[in-house]
Amino acid sequence: MPERGFLTETWDDDWFQVLSRDQRYLFIYLWTNNHCNQAGLYQLTLATIAFETKLNKAELPSLLKSLSPKVEWYPEQNLIWVKNFLRHQTKSPKFIIAAIRSLDNHRIPDDIRSPFELYNEELLRGIAPSEHVSPTKRECVIIRDDFLCQYCGKEITNADDYEMDHITPITRGGKENYLNLVTACRSCNQKKLDKTPQEAGLKIPTPTPFHGAQATYILRNNEAVREKWLTIFPDRYKVVESILINISQYCLKIPSRAGASSASSSASADKEDRVVKGKGELSADEKEIIERLVKLKGWQADEDDVAWHQGLRSEFPGFTLAEFRACVDYHSGKPPPKHKGIWKNRFRNWMIKKQEFEKGGKELAKQPKQQRLRPITHIPGSGPAGPESEEDVP
Ligand SMILES: [Zn+2]
Repeated sequence: MPERGFLTETWDDDWFQVLSRDQRYLFIYLWTNNHCNQAGLYQLTLATIAFETKLNKAELPSLLKSLSPKVEWYPEQNLIWVKNFLRHQTKSPKFIIAAIRSLDNHRIPDDIRSPFELYNEELLRGIAPSEHVSPTKRECVIIRDDFLCQYCGKEITNADDYEMDHITPITRGGKENYLNLVTACRSCNQKKLDKTPQEAGLKIPTPTPFHGAQATYILRNNEAVREKWLTIFPDRYKVVESILINISQYCLKIPSRAGASSASSSASADKEDRVVKGKGELSADEKEIIERLVKLKGWQADEDDVAWHQGLRSEFPGFTLAEFRACVDYHSGKPPPKHKGIWKNRFRNWMIKKQEFEKGGKELAKQPKQQRLRPITHIPGSGPAGPESEEDVP
């Protein structure tokens, strides 16, 4: 690949400016070397890096790790992922399809490929924008609620039995968002009418935040959900078709894909499960975190909370329920933040500090102070660094 985009503003970027000379040199090398494919996710051994850059091979692992989250390094597979690479290249569908093909040539395992696809979802979806038909909110709510009436627990199996219910009725000031919308069966809905659940003598549901993109993701990846969903909305086949056409363009039906995935098929079944679970259905831990987030001071829930939270988890796999609690406990002694952007920043900084600590405080302590990596992840003009970045600055 003879030409590629590299932003000149990188030199003025806060994140870049605090890098040491070697870090900068390595970062630029990873963008511009001859092995880098169109996707920016490619195989490269330490020996090659050392040979081509003249950097000391023994120092490379810690140098590579220090470039996270802008660069992810997968030592077992000798894979480098320059995260914003694809976003800086031409947006032409031809180029993006070539990028996806290059992943096949490099035989990228599915558990690394999936985060890549999620990270670049907007871009990849852009391959066939005219054909994209999204599910409506009503069609998403039932997916989140697993096709169960949130008042009596009955499974909804046909369109006539499905009502999307406002927990607090609109006439009583209820909102049109996922925290006020639940799946109801016809008979519960008739009992409820314009009452609140308490007034109607119904169980009070506790819906979780949700996002249309999650519904799309589940429909794409979970065939059982797709089938159930289509029995309820048979005339909405266009939605499913559009989702599948989109992936077939950028992943499934590209011929070499079959060969590539069989190479890594050994554990792929359960890996795929895990990935679907990560983005689609929330685990018990994740549900609890989301429920507790809403209760934090200064936190106003909205549909992006789930995407933000999952972005944080994929960036910091150590972000568990226990970490969440520890961070909240720690900050409970401090003045409550005015808005959730500050909370988000706190969670992020918490994980960055923990990661630095785990990386080895000793190594860091040896470096002169101004050379330490400052964890700012956004390169100006590069678009969002991840789902959380737009809220990054308090
Ligand atoms: Zn019911």
